[in-house]
Amino acid sequence: MLQTRIGSRWLVPAVAWEAGKPLVIEEVEVAPPQKMEVRIKILFTSLCHTDVYFWEAKGQNPVFPRILGHEAGGVVESVGEGVTDLQPGDHVLPVFTGECKECAHCKSEESNMCDLLRINTDRGVMLHDQKSRFSINGKPIFHFVGTSTFSEYTVVHVGCLAKINPLAPLDKVCVLSCGISTGLGATLNVAKPKKGSSVAVFGLGAVGLAAAEGARIAGASRIIGVDLNANRFELAKKFGVTEFVNPKDYNKPVQEVIAEMINGGVDRSVECTGHIDAMISAFECVHDGWGVAVLVGVPHKDAVFKTSPMNLLNERTLKGTFFGNYKPRSDIPSVVEKYMNKELEVEKFITHEVPFSEINKAFDLMLKGEGLRCIIRMDA
Ligand code: NAD
Ligand code: ZN
Repeated sequence: MLQTRIGSRWLVPAVAWEAGKPLVIEEVEVAPPQKMEVRIKILFTSLCHTDVYFWEAKGQNPVFPRILGHEAGGVVESVGEGVTDLQPGDHVLPVFTGECKECAHCKSEESNMCDLLRINTDRGVMLHDQKSRFSINGKPIFHFVGTSTFSEYTVVHVGCLAKINPLAPLDKVCVLSCGISTGLGATLNVAKPKKGSSVAVFGLGAVGLAAAEGARIAGASRIIGVDLNANRFELAKKFGVTEFVNPKDYNKPVQEVIAEMINGGVDRSVECTGHIDAMISAFECVHDGWGVAVLVGVPHKDAVFKTSPMNLLNERTLKGTFFGNYKPRSDIPSVVEKYMNKELEVEKFITHEVPFSEINKAFDLMLKGEGLRCIIRMDA
């Protein structure tokens, strides 16, 4: 690992120079935080599929060189002008979407789609001056979704930082800054299953298993896991999934299989695959009269959702959600508290750990589909 020279702000991020090429650990200058910005020291970060999608840059705008990373935990090092609710030493989780607390969305109880800080995957600069805070010999290195956590230090808009309980272990709760909260919130905040109800979860990756965890917390009595990859089933048992369906094992649509298993359909379903067929099945497998389906997966840009309007007339509800409907600053601290009071189990999502110098191993694991979350320790 290279030396860190904090005094002159020469630090050590992992730079993605080109699409699909291994990240390189370099000395990069991280400029001080400007108006409404905070510079944080990242202690732990983890790899999520979204980092891999934008690193591969297939079907996305390639923005390079860039510092990826958005699931992380850190400590505030310094704050810029106008920042009043954070100070050096505070423990924070950076979030890829934000909460300005002033726009119509932030003021609405129903929305978390902040006008100012909503995710923007094409922007590689800070909002304040449209410039990057990262540079090598004066050449800018771009930011990623406002977080860029594959760096010992990063600069984030204050609206994208959740201040959390300083007693919470950052090496565990860092995973709550993206995928786990997304799946959990999709169930608890949007699908809202009743105690004793049935819930189908499509896709048993980290997001889907977090949705299953939400169903377990809500007291669902039957949790049906649907995945094309049977290897996921053993792991899913730890998350309270009680029954499994592999659509490949049947020669009829999976929604019919589920309707036969559960007397006409499930009470709730949560789709976490990103595949349009699974989205349609997730909707069509809920019970008429009261069933609610929630879409979480990000579809292909040309995907079209096709179903008979009769399915809606028969009193099924279709919803979608972004970051589990959580507002990052107002709600994520309480998700951390759910972990602290042992209501939510986070450890079972963490299957691997690597030192920062071996960050590319975390990419290899994800590309092979091994495990759920790999924690990257910055101090090692
Ligand atoms: P993952 O790749 O680890 O898991 C997806 C699982 O779905 C895999 O196990 C795969 O085998 C399964 N699958 C694929 N097609 C299927 C099908 N037709 N039927 C049944 N199972 C199928 O992904 P992840 O990290 O858990 O993320 C899941 C989705 O959630 C992705 O689309 C991701 O982009 C999205 N996401 C959305 C938000 C949001 O705010 N809405 C936030 C984070 C991630
Ligand atoms: Zn806002």
